[in-house]
Amino acid sequence: MPDVETVCVQCKETFLFTEKEQDIFYQRNLMAPQRCQKCRTKKAAAGTDAPRRFEIICDHCGKHDQVSFQPKVGRPVLCRDCHEATRSRARYA
Ligand SMILES: [Zn+2]
Ligand SMILES: [Zn+2]
Repeated sequence: MPDVETVCVQCKETFLFTEKEQDIFYQRNLMAPQRCQKCRTKKAAAGTDAPRRFEIICDHCGKHDQVSFQPKVGRPVLCRDCHEATRSRARYA
């Protein structure tokens, strides 16, 4: 796909949604960006966008997943599915 010219919703400047970025966004199933790189960086710095993600390998099923918290070394870490399963088990126990 060719580069797409997009107008930033924040500063109204035109920016390029590049082919490379489009790949990344589609791979991650994200919406096309509405802000230019500058505004995105500002927003990320404000901590309201793009939460940090940590790659984990589930201790229970071995699946690769991403979590929003820093996994503790030496502690079992679960993927979302197993985490949910554990939680609902606890709730209905
Ligand atoms: Zn902008
Ligand atoms: Zn798992």
